[in-house]
Amino acid sequence: MCPVCFEERRLTSGYTPYASPWCDKRGELLIACERCGRWLPSGVTTCPDPGCRGHVHETWPANTGRAPDGAGRTDGWRWPSEWDRQNPAYKAPNAATWASDLPVNAAFVAHGRLYVWVGTALIAPGVGPAGAPTVASANAAPWKCWLGFDGLPSQSVGADSRVALFGGGAILAVENDFVIGALYPGRADEALKLQLGAPVAQVASDGWWAGWAMKSGLPALYSAHVNAQWRNTACRQIVGAGTAAAPRSGTRMLLKQGSAYWISEEGSLWRLECETGVCVPLTEPAPDTRIGWCGAEGAHIVKDGGEGIRIGLDPVRIGFVAREAPGGNGPLKDVFAGKGLLAVVGEQVMTLDSGTGYVLGGGKYLGQWVAGALAEPEMDAPDREPRLLMLTQDNEDGNLTALRPSSGGEEAVWRGPGVQVTGLIVAGRRMYVVHNSGVTSIRSAHSASAGEEQL
Ligand SMILES: [Zn+2]
Ligand SMILES: [Zn+2]
Repeated sequence: MCPVCFEERRLTSGYTPYASPWCDKRGELLIACERCGRWLPSGVTTCPDPGCRGHVHETWPANTGRAPDGAGRTDGWRWPSEWDRQNPAYKAPNAATWASDLPVNAAFVAHGRLYVWVGTALIAPGVGPAGAPTVASANAAPWKCWLGFDGLPSQSVGADSRVALFGGGAILAVENDFVIGALYPGRADEALKLQLGAPVAQVASDGWWAGWAMKSGLPALYSAHVNAQWRNTACRQIVGAGTAAAPRSGTRMLLKQGSAYWISEEGSLWRLECETGVCVPLTEPAPDTRIGWCGAEGAHIVKDGGEGIRIGLDPVRIGFVAREAPGGNGPLKDVFAGKGLLAVVGEQVMTLDSGTGYVLGGGKYLGQWVAGALAEPEMDAPDREPRLLMLTQDNEDGNLTALRPSSGGEEAVWRGPGVQVTGLIVAGRRMYVVHNSGVTSIRSAHSASAGEEQL
């Protein structure tokens, strides 16, 4: 039985892994236990069956481009060996572009669909089985979530803070507030203001949301826990998170296992435990401190000073000195943490062993760095080596290349002449390059024939 309306019958998610995750009677999101497949309302994290106690999560990838842990790994997507040019079975990637008639502010995938923030609305352009767009223009989109007259993105937040996925909704940083809109495709609602103030930064993961806003001229920190109904989002202000904790402008926040992290204006790493509301600095202030990524034991920081980039091999813990490894010449553009491997993007790309900090290899990128992702190879690939996907702006063109870290060898994946690229989403069976005038879907020929996607 559906756990929200108790009226619909549903097969367990194990029988229907690509089923719609929506309760069609109420328009609420359902999530599933990864062990027994039982459907549960949004907000549940552990299976209530005492004999199971499995981890409960969404059944489709939910991805805004950069996962909230900051590690930059692809979300279930693997590098297809058929894209290696020396592979005798080489097949070029399939690319299909949806061109928007309004400026694209951001895009994300959630619950089996692609959503695009265009102008002052969220739309779901949809991509048909052959990769062709199913909506001709943004204005004619059949599903649209109106964000209000001030529904353009806030110019004071970084690109990573524009969208946070929260249960069946998306929280968007618009000009004067955060707004939440439901993503249920069966009905288009208007987004609701959270009434928190002008957005500064935000992040959401595993049922938690944390965000900073300017309220009456002062920085304020809030957190919220997902519940079954998106309209009832209650944000609590964290008392004790004063001005000293306020994040640097344009900063990225990270969130893992209920702990949010960011770098303050003075350069300290701060942590908020969402459950308890405890907010503390973890490092002394230092202007060259940058946020890195979250591992199983906490957040890693990176230093970007005059003497080059230094990578924190250990998570930051009070009372412990984290080991550091050199990561090449700055300025730091990005850092990725995969299985045993770190990839540091500065003037060039350098890859390190994540345990010892030894240099494994590296490479170069073309033009201006925009975004990237670290992809594991397919299970049956002849080599076991991950690839660093590198999205750059090469003069007038958008360019996507994959780097093999050990040899520095590169494979061209896609090139968009005259396209200004802004983001990369790599989740499920395909990747999307987001640009200011549309979204390009890229996938391998063999996954293009698999029909189980809704996207
Ligand atoms: Zn239902
Ligand atoms: Zn279960």
